[in-house]
Amino acid sequence: MAASPTRPEAVPPTREDVITASNDIPIPFTNLPALYDWPVSDAEGYSINEVPSGTERCIKIVCVGAGASGINLAKFAQDRLKNIELVLYEKNSEVAGTWFESKYP
Ligand SMILES: Cc1cc2nc3c(=O)[nH]c(=O)nc-3n(C[C@H](O)[C@H](O)[C@H](O)COP(=O)(O)OP(=O)(O)OC[C@H]3O[C@@H](n4cnc5c(N)ncnc54)[C@H](O)[C@@H]3O)c2cc1C
Repeated sequence: MAASPTRPEAVPPTREDVITASNDIPIPFTNLPALYDWPVSDAEGYSINEVPSGTERCIKIVCVGAGASGINLAKFAQDRLKNIELVLYEKNSEVAGTWFESKYP
């Protein structure tokens, strides 16, 4: 079973962001290498990712187990985290882990 909580609205990637040139014309970040003749790849073809440091990006979180800890993580992620993709894997047919497996008379 894999469950993915509804995510809060993701922060759009800043690749679309712009800076303002001295003449007040907005310039998308992706246009800067061409504008300033920066290299966009090295001799081996490695491409530089033109994203400012500190830019929020989507983080993928994988949690194994939907016991109390996994459920708590899912709730925390739903309430407090932004721009994430959470997948919970559970080997049992139901969530709750120990509380599902341990039956009391
Ligand atoms: C008999 C018993 C009584 C307890 N009573 C109490 C109590 O009264 N109060 C209390 O606070 N605590 C109690 N505990 C402790 C209890 O374990 C914790 O409270 C809590 O359940 C721990 O949650 P957890 O999510 O960390 O682990 P678990 O509940 O063990 O959850 C782990 C989950 O991971 C899943 N999993 C494991 N391996 C994989 C895999 N490879 N792939 C996919 N899924 C996987 C398991 O199926 C399970 O659902 C008790 C424990 C036992 C055994």
